[in-house]
Amino acid sequence: MKTVKHELVVLGGGPAGYVAAIRAAQLGIDVACIDENSQFGGTCVRVGCIPSKALLESSHVYESTQHDLADHGISVGDVKFDLSAMMERKKKIVDRLTGGIDMLFKKKGVTPYCGRGKFRDVNTVEVSLSDGGEAVQITADQVLVCAGSRPASIPPVEEDGDRIGNSTTALSFPDVPKRLVVIGGGYIGLELGSVWKRLGSEVIVLEAMDRILPGLDDELVKLAYRTFKKQGIDFRTGTFVQSAKVQGDKCIVAIQGGEPIECDRVLLATGRTPATDNLGLESIGLETDNRGFISVNKNFETSVEGVYAIGDCIGGAMLAHKAMEEAVVCVERMAGIKSHMNYDVIPAVVYTHPEIAMVGKTEQQLQDEGIEYKKGICPFGANGRAQTLGDVDGRVKILADAKTDRVLGVHIIGNRAGDLIAEAAAAMEFGASSEDIARTCHAHPTLSEAVHEAALAVDGRAIHT
Ligand code: FAD
Repeated sequence: MKTVKHELVVLGGGPAGYVAAIRAAQLGIDVACIDENSQFGGTCVRVGCIPSKALLESSHVYESTQHDLADHGISVGDVKFDLSAMMERKKKIVDRLTGGIDMLFKKKGVTPYCGRGKFRDVNTVEVSLSDGGEAVQITADQVLVCAGSRPASIPPVEEDGDRIGNSTTALSFPDVPKRLVVIGGGYIGLELGSVWKRLGSEVIVLEAMDRILPGLDDELVKLAYRTFKKQGIDFRTGTFVQSAKVQGDKCIVAIQGGEPIECDRVLLATGRTPATDNLGLESIGLETDNRGFISVNKNFETSVEGVYAIGDCIGGAMLAHKAMEEAVVCVERMAGIKSHMNYDVIPAVVYTHPEIAMVGKTEQQLQDEGIEYKKGICPFGANGRAQTLGDVDGRVKILADAKTDRVLGVHIIGNRAGDLIAEAAAAMEFGASSEDIARTCHAHPTLSEAVHEAALAVDGRAIHT
């Protein structure tokens, strides 16, 4: 077996791993990055953030031609879509981005290994190369585990990877299901449910809890729920799925206390589980918690000296930007730089239409924690740019400390909420008050003026509402 040495080995090439490897190389560390998939970029680039947004965009463009063009005085003939062309566009975007990572690795000096990595001992990772070549043993002073996560399965839902599948399956349906049952009302279920709804499926979302989108601000979720219902998504909250099975060319979903639902496809979207099995963690004495997550301290060190972990496999917000942020901070700390990770300011975005974005605390959290707050709201109906875009649904809500005026949370539902939340995150990272945002000149006419107006509204000074 071939043996090589690097200073740092990064196990996993997703947003956590590839970013960590690049930052390490920038800092002059001799680094290798291992991924079993020939395309680096992980879940996010291959079967997550990017392909889902590609399909959300294509399906949105198609749907806009059905509803929005007449309002602009534009009429078009019978608009059709070609699903395989949409899928091809999605693939090209993924290929371009994964190819980009290969180029960055070359440019920055990261050594990639394509194969499955497994600990042999604390300083040794063995890689079984995906091309079947001779296995490589890599020794390193430090190992950073970035193994990520995979869709969680639930045994009564009998996935066949085709008619009953997970998010990866739903990103590549070969045809538009007539009726799609989505199990789970979280962001992945709603984003992919929206894609197929826009393309013509009847979409039924089954959610065990009495609400969708756990963790988001109640008020925004109520608005979102109403809007998605208007769009035709059939929500059945408080519904427990007992089983789901393929029967012939149909699927049967049994629910507690109700008639079974017959459908063409089922998307199981009930969360993700850390991919920490089969890494050989037991061989180095590294235990995971009962859900499989690896525990780390604030420097991302595990209980085994020289072994670090970041990204989805350590839990917390299972989001690509959180993983990438941890990557930079972890590697910089390894290099002795006093880098900082602020878990209080991690934005979260749902890329439905309208988008929903948040950063900081929700009203419910502030109430539970007994923190007194003021709030300012600006509906997009009062925003000139939203009017010209013909997209006035939604609002910006800013929550600020009642005494200090420091911004504690910002919640946006509306067009491009995911882009607008960046200003709020930057403001919060710098400890801004709502007055700081209110006194910042925002370009006109832009959607960002709604953030400005909401900040003015915190102290009752809104001009346009
Ligand atoms: P991963 O991206 O899972 O990468 C881990 C990598 O490690 C994989 O490439 C895997 O092949 C490799 N690996 C694991 N074990 C081994 C081994 N033993 N040997 C070699 N390689 C190994 N997040 C957002 O922030 N925004 C979004 O819009 C968003 N949308 C999403 C949509 C969907 C449908 C899904 C499924 C996820 C989405 N996410 C989104 C979540 C995001 O994809 C993850 O949070 C992110 O990819 C986590 O990064 P990671 O590097 O920790 O893990």
